[in-house]
Amino acid sequence: MSTLKEPSFRESVDLMFNRAVALMDLSPGLEEKIKVCNSTYTVRFGVRLRGKIETFVGYRSVHSEHMEPVKGGIRYATSVSQDEVEALAALMTYKCALVETPFGGSKGGLCIDPRQWDEHELEQITRRFAYELIKRDLINPAQNVPAPDMGTSEREMAWIADQYARMNTADINARACVTGKPPHAGGIQGRVEATGRGVQYALREFFRHADDKALAGLSGDLEGKRVIVQGLGNVGYHATKFLSEEDGVIVTGIIEHDGALVRDEGLDVAAVKQWMNRHGTIKGYADAVQVENGAEVLEKECDILIPAAHEGVIHLGNADRIKARLIIEAANGPVTFGADEVLREKGTVIIPDMYANAGGVTVSYFEWVKNLSHIRFGRMQRRAEEARSRLIVEELERLSSDRGLGWELAPDFKERFLRGSDELELVRSGLDDTMRTAYQAMREVWHARNDVHDLRVAAYIVAIDRVAAAYRSKGL
Ligand code: GLU
Repeated sequence: MSTLKEPSFRESVDLMFNRAVALMDLSPGLEEKIKVCNSTYTVRFGVRLRGKIETFVGYRSVHSEHMEPVKGGIRYATSVSQDEVEALAALMTYKCALVETPFGGSKGGLCIDPRQWDEHELEQITRRFAYELIKRDLINPAQNVPAPDMGTSEREMAWIADQYARMNTADINARACVTGKPPHAGGIQGRVEATGRGVQYALREFFRHADDKALAGLSGDLEGKRVIVQGLGNVGYHATKFLSEEDGVIVTGIIEHDGALVRDEGLDVAAVKQWMNRHGTIKGYADAVQVENGAEVLEKECDILIPAAHEGVIHLGNADRIKARLIIEAANGPVTFGADEVLREKGTVIIPDMYANAGGVTVSYFEWVKNLSHIRFGRMQRRAEEARSRLIVEELERLSSDRGLGWELAPDFKERFLRGSDELELVRSGLDDTMRTAYQAMREVWHARNDVHDLRVAAYIVAIDRVAAAYRSKGL
């Protein structure tokens, strides 16, 4: 970390907010109402583990209730603090508004190193934390719906859902109290990889616009672009896996907490992940150059840098040495307010977090709707699609035989066409559509206004405008 004076994460988000509202016409009262965090609940609870009582500190922060339920993940990390959850809750408000998921913003965290506890212990801790939040309606399908974040996954969400169901046996919508559940426990296909997919779709959308690429000093398509990723957790792994397997990017560097791997010809992301899962470290992976000090690799030459780990990793102490032309913030808040300024001056283009990592909450929304509708997601659409496809195929075959044209559909194409879309296909196309629409909204502000020079401010303007409209229409 830099020794230069940096604001806290929370202050950094507020400063970015201020930069946007300075260009907007909001009443000072409304501006303040949107900016402040409505409430943060702190809980300290004890769990008897390994023969003694261990005390844990957890938080659930609600930033804005202009729409309910409020939404946002629960993080398990030793860095969790009130400042952090409040910053993350604020980002959830703006993120949901930007991608038009009808939620307010919230975030939770437990100050814990999950690697220190075994599965059974983590279940006890999670259920106890969930109990405290459920009691106060801080987990509730109509009021506050958590999801996975750093250090948590499907497993913890299943425990939380079960805990809620036990405490609310008469709630028919109990499953919608949390998203990111495993598919067999009311989850949805494609949620695990959704944030990484969203990063891929965001980059594809950026590369569709020649003038946007030109601003970053890039041209051509994604194929062959050199990428460095920081953090090979759920988001970083899926983003780089999809981008390298489907779009032809070359992953030249992977930075993890205990070092980095570099290979100019490209790293095999899936193989590195497998190694990490087996050994708990990237150290010792054979097919790459090992770098002791991972931070150095952030500063290496590349086209696209994907910080996908923690907040504040690009700061005043290293911003001027970052060489990437384009940064896509897969993590929340990886670039500090000060670093953002330095990078903007250098002409680096940043695709901001609230857009770049919105794939997770977008698919969470699909899961929540699926749970509330009590019908397999896409079941209706699929039946309708199948009926329409059958009509088209019959008409084609009739035309062909009437006119003796001899047309024949390839059997595998016909089979797929008649089948209609399954849940995963619907989730992917819904996510793609969401990422494109949100990019267009941001891009319009970026290009149409001559007082807006970067995507972050554009994203804040779009989001704040929508939150303000919600407050105005519902009346404060
Ligand atoms: N934790 C994720 C985020 O930061 C997902 C939140 C959600 O799905 O509610 O966006």
